[in-house]
Amino acid sequence: MRKGEIVKVSGPLVIAKGMTGSKMYDVVRVSEERLVGEIIGLSGDLASIQVYEDTSGIGPGEPVYMTDQPLYVELGPGLIESIFDGIQRPLDIIRDQTGDNIKRGIEVPALERDKKWQFKPLVKKGDAVGPGDVIGEVKETILITHKVMIPPNVKGKVKNIAGGEFLVTDVVCELEGENGKVELTMLQRWPVRIPRPYRERLAPTVPLATGQRVIDTFFPIAKGGTACCPGPFGSGKTVIQHQLAKWADAEIIVYIGCGERGNEMTDVLLEFPELKDPRSGEPLMKRTVLIANTSNMPVAAREASVYTGITIAEYFRDMGFSVAVMADSTSRWAEAMREISGRLEEMPGEEGYPAYLGAKVSAFYERAGRVKTLGKPDRQGALSVIGAVSPPGGDLSDPVVQATLRVVKVFWSLEDRLAYQRHFPAISWLNSYSLYLDDVSADLNKLVAKDFTDLSKEAMRLLEQEAELQEIVRLIGVDALSPEDRLILEGARSVREDFLHQNAFHEIDTYASLRKQYNMLALCMFYYNKAKEALAKGVAFSDIVNMGIRDQIARMKYLAESESEKKIGVLKERVEKIFEKLIAGEIKREGEDEETEAEEADEKVEEKMAEKEKKEEET
Ligand code: ADP
Repeated sequence: MRKGEIVKVSGPLVIAKGMTGSKMYDVVRVSEERLVGEIIGLSGDLASIQVYEDTSGIGPGEPVYMTDQPLYVELGPGLIESIFDGIQRPLDIIRDQTGDNIKRGIEVPALERDKKWQFKPLVKKGDAVGPGDVIGEVKETILITHKVMIPPNVKGKVKNIAGGEFLVTDVVCELEGENGKVELTMLQRWPVRIPRPYRERLAPTVPLATGQRVIDTFFPIAKGGTACCPGPFGSGKTVIQHQLAKWADAEIIVYIGCGERGNEMTDVLLEFPELKDPRSGEPLMKRTVLIANTSNMPVAAREASVYTGITIAEYFRDMGFSVAVMADSTSRWAEAMREISGRLEEMPGEEGYPAYLGAKVSAFYERAGRVKTLGKPDRQGALSVIGAVSPPGGDLSDPVVQATLRVVKVFWSLEDRLAYQRHFPAISWLNSYSLYLDDVSADLNKLVAKDFTDLSKEAMRLLEQEAELQEIVRLIGVDALSPEDRLILEGARSVREDFLHQNAFHEIDTYASLRKQYNMLALCMFYYNKAKEALAKGVAFSDIVNMGIRDQIARMKYLAESESEKKIGVLKERVEKIFEKLIAGEIKREGEDEETEAEEADEKVEEKMAEKEKKEEET
């Protein structure tokens, strides 16, 4: 193996001489301890090496071994349920081998070498196959069937293929290629810094439903889209990421944890394996790949973890899955870039971040997308990326936030003001945006209801009017407002409290289908519009706002999916009746008879439901 010699060590940065012949981003092994590093700069025979392990005790004169290979990941059965470090070493296995203090330079293959998988061939002898073709499948976990694909640079005619139990390194298929025999195993390698190829990029027109009302109704993300949620400490970034991991309409989750402090990462390592997939009842890990930077790896390893994660995600996208990547938090990755850049004595940009920060951040997010994949059978895959950003003090002018906002299409602005008021999710409805709104509206209207996006726009207008009025209220008090304006405040409050507010920890409220979201918002707006009508017809403001039925509207979020449509329908009828009576002058004092009527109606619905359930049980 060719080798160079260390001339300087500065934290995670090593300079070596005698490196002629190596290329940018080649992997090298540093010193006799064989620490893993990547070449990030070349000049003459000098190489700058970013080392992904602790360099203490390493000094000038020691060797640097060249591998002449880029940093790559192993792809194949066994990825799901794994917990890897930034350079794809399985954490549990190295911990078993070396204890909690991971030894440096340790080499463990990413995919387990002695586990056998049941391979089922899907092509036969004589078939012509090419890049991306599915040649067989493996039931990887109870939730995921892994497609074994021809690597992007291989083609030929199948000479031999058989089903059975195989190791990932066993040959499962032999091809007659252009230049002779090609042996294929279930394991492929792919360099992490190069996006995996696909056939065609598709428009982001399909919404990625998340079950989170403020997101789906107001700031939706498309399948294959990009989003970021910057926010200060304690504003709910982690809860949102967990909610999305559990509920987003994605089959595979890749979670990249770049924690700053060791314990942040330990939390993820402890919490994630405990999460349940609510749809199947299985552990969420059965469809998750976790990448975690441990505290004893230097910050530079965060850089590798981001690329490792997205490459694994692309591989599952190529199988035709909808994949969601969560990166928490990309600020830590950017800090790693800043540290290395500083040590390289590069010209610093804003706040000491390197001038290429923006380019790197956008190259990362650009790997998202909904695509037609290579190969037969025809399939579409989607890779959606959701990045958390944690700017110091929640300051949105932070360079990492700004670089991210320039590329991502959805911005969920988490605000501590809302978190203090216990309004969760603390996503600001005034500052957030989604540039997919127009792209996904046709699909949403077709999927849910034809006026879904109109309704969402109408509700948003109400919230914006509320914000304007609040300015006035702050200056001269609420009494100065006309009843019409006060009704706007009431309507907006209902949208905020009855619709937007969603408790992630409530068994039912944690998730709302698009249909339920529509029904809920439609009722809020129906109530508001009826109230407006009544006010115009001379009903007193106080009679309108003190109606008992508002409590029931507030509780609609706790209606189970199976009954919510019906019960919200009943509520709507009731609202209509009450307003008819109010306008006709039949209800004099607020609350009284309408309350009893409401209760009666409620009982009737419950009776009916019970009867129906009984009948269903009987049949
Ligand atoms: P961050 O990661 O931004 O520091 P967390 O995600 O840990 O913040 O959230 C802080 C706390 O806020 C949580 O422990 C929880 O009590 C509360 N919280 C956040 N989001 C929600 C939500 N959707 N529903 C209920 N509580 C929430």
